Amino acid sequence: MANHWTLVRVKHIQGVGRMNRNEFCPICDGAVPSEEYKGRYPGALSRFDNNEEICSLCGMAEAMTPLFSPEGREIMVVGLQNDDFELWAAGVQKGLPQCREILEQQKVAQEQLKKLNEEE
Ligand SMILES: [Zn+2]
Repeated sequence: MANHWTLVRVKHIQGVGRMNRNEFCPICDGAVPSEEYKGRYPGALSRFDNNEEICSLCGMAEAMTPLFSPEGREIMVVGLQNDDFELWAAGVQKGLPQCREILEQQKVAQEQLKKLNEEE
């Protein structure tokens, strides 16, 4: 298993600098980089092939899903082995709800921090 993730990392380093730009994320069909910042910034580079531009959330999910979901991780690995982006995407999607939750909590924390700073 570890070999596949090492392979992904190597591909990632080699792939820096080129990207297939997408208006909509090929994993979740959402706007790139996000609904909030639609088209204003580049999205993330998919670890699948370091070529597809995906939304920020899916960029996070590609990294985090293997930690949240053994099933998602398994599907991602098989997708990678078979060079099947659809399958990879299905695996990544398993971790999307958890990532959304983390981002939401982060936002709340940032707002609380901002309020604290304003009160000083
Ligand atoms: Zn996405």
